[in-house]
Amino acid sequence: MAIVTKVETPEGARRRLKLASPATLEPIGEIELQTPEDVREALAAARRAQPAWAALSFEERGHYMMRALRVLLDKQDEYIDVILGETPKTRNESLMMDIYAGCDSLHYYGKKTGKLLRPEKKRLHGMVAIGKRLQVVYKPLGVVGVISPWNGPFILSLNPTVQALMAGNAVLLKPSSSTAFSGKLVGDLFEEAGLPEGLLSVLVGDGQTGQALLEAGVDKISFTGSEETGRHVAVTCAERFIPCTLELGGKNPVIVCGDADLDRAAAGAIAGNFFNAGQYCGGTERVYVVESVADQFIERVVERAAALRQGAEGEFDVGALFWPQQLEIVEEHVEDAVAKGARVLVGGRRNPNLKGLYFEPTVLTEVTDEMRVLREETFGPVMSILRVRDEEEAIRLANDSNYGLTASVWTRDTHKGFQIAKRIDTGSVDVNDFPQTYGAAEAPFGGRKASGVGQVNGAVGLRGYCHAQPIQTDRFGGKQTAGRYPLSLKQDAGFQKFMRFLWGTALGRKLSLMRLPW
Ligand code: NAD
Repeated sequence: MAIVTKVETPEGARRRLKLASPATLEPIGEIELQTPEDVREALAAARRAQPAWAALSFEERGHYMMRALRVLLDKQDEYIDVILGETPKTRNESLMMDIYAGCDSLHYYGKKTGKLLRPEKKRLHGMVAIGKRLQVVYKPLGVVGVISPWNGPFILSLNPTVQALMAGNAVLLKPSSSTAFSGKLVGDLFEEAGLPEGLLSVLVGDGQTGQALLEAGVDKISFTGSEETGRHVAVTCAERFIPCTLELGGKNPVIVCGDADLDRAAAGAIAGNFFNAGQYCGGTERVYVVESVADQFIERVVERAAALRQGAEGEFDVGALFWPQQLEIVEEHVEDAVAKGARVLVGGRRNPNLKGLYFEPTVLTEVTDEMRVLREETFGPVMSILRVRDEEEAIRLANDSNYGLTASVWTRDTHKGFQIAKRIDTGSVDVNDFPQTYGAAEAPFGGRKASGVGQVNGAVGLRGYCHAQPIQTDRFGGKQTAGRYPLSLKQDAGFQKFMRFLWGTALGRKLSLMRLPW
C-alpha cells in the first residue's frame, strides 16, 4: 500500500491522490478517483455486455482466461515491479502470492468451471420421484462488485474476478485506492486478453467510490477487507437484498504440541508470522506452545527470527509495512504489550537503518490477555508466544478470540493433528504448515465470527456467483398437475390414511425414501 496524500483540485473536478512508495518514500504516481456517475456508467456497460458473455460456453470463456494466463506469464516481471512499488514485500512473495497464484487461478477456473458448474441431475425421493425429474442449473447473477484490500492488491482482485467471470457474470472491480496501480493491472491483463468491452471495469477510488458501488444496483458484492468496513458492507447489502461474501481479518493461532518436530514448527511459525511482513489475513499472530517443549521451541524461533534480513533491494527476507497507519498500529501494540509486562526477545522497534516503513521482525513472550497484541489484529511482523500446560489448554485459548479465520497445528501425529484441527473454531486449519488453504482452489475458504461470512474459491465459491435454480420437468408427460380442483374432504381423508401408512409403518417409511434408479 502506497503512502497516500490528497492533491488539491479545483471545485467540481475529480478528486486526486498522490501515491508514494512505503519502502523508499519516493513518489509512484497520481490517481484520479472515480465518481458515482462513473460507477453508474460502468454498471450500464456491464449490463450491456453480460448477456452475450453468459451465452458463451464455459470453454469459450475459458479461452479468454488462457489468453490472460499467457499475458501474465510473459509480463510477470513488469507486473511484479508495479506490485512491489506499492507493497514492498520480497520478490519471492510477489512471485508466489501474485504470479503463481494468479496463473493457477486463471488456469484452474478457466479449465474446471464447466465441470464445477455443470447442471446437476438430482434423483428425487418418495411420491414426486415417480412423475418428475429434477435438474439444478447454475445461472450467473448478472453483475458482481468486487471490493479488494491493500495487502494483496493484485491476487485478491484477480482471483474473485476470474471466478465471477467464469461463472458468466460481468465484474466491477474496486481495488483499494492506495494500491490502485496493482488493481489496475487486472484490467490491463484482461484488456490484453481481449475480454469483451464493458464486461470488466476497474473503478479507481477510495471508500466513496466503494460506497457508490454498493449503492449502484449490482447483483452481489464480493468484499475482502477490514471488519469495520465489512460490517458496513453487510448492512448495505442486507438493505438491498443482495448477497455478499465478507473475507475479513484474523488473529490466527498456532498450536505447537509436545510431540511436534520443533525445527519444522519454528520455521512454520516464522513463515506464518512474517510472510508479507505480517500483513496477511491468514497469518499467524498467537503461538501456544506446550510447556514441556517451550524452551527448545522459543530458542529455535529466536535464532531464526534474529537472522531474518530486512530490506528494500537485492536479497532480503522481510519487507516493509505498506502504509503509515499500519506501522502506527504495530508500534502501539508492541508498546502496550511491553508496558504491561511482555518481554521482547527479538526486534520490537522500527528498523533504524531503513528510511521506509520498516518494523523489525519481533518476538514477544510473557504476553497476557489484557494486551492489545493478543486480542486485536496486529497485521505486522510481531509474534506472541504463550506457554500452555497441555494441548487442551492450547485449544481453549486458540478459540478464545473474536476472530476465526485460520489456524495451524504442529505435531508428528497426523491423526492427532486432524482431531485437534476439528476442535478449532476457524474457517480453515493447516496441520504442519502455515495457513495456506486460500491457495488451494478445492478448499472452500472463509472466516467464522468476526472473520467473515460466506466462503470463496472452488465449487462453493463459483456457486456463490450463481443462482442455483432447480427445474422440475415431467418424467412421463400426462395430463395431471400437483393441485387438482375441486378439492374434496373425501380425498383429504384418503390422503391422511396414505400418510399414516407412509410414515407410520416400517414398509411405508422405507418406500418414502425410495428413489427411482434412473
Ligand atoms: P478496508 O476495509 O479499509 O478496505 C477494503 C476495501 O473497501 C478498499 O477497497 C476500500 O477502498 C473499500 N471501502 C472502504 N470504505 C468503503 C465503503 N464505505 N463502501 C465500500 N467500500 C469501501 O480494508 P484494508 O485495510 O484495505 O484491508 C486490510 C484488512 O483486510 C485486514 O483486516 C485483513 O485481515 C483483511 N483481509 C482479509 C482477507 C481474507 O481473505 N479474509 C484477505 C486479505 C485481507
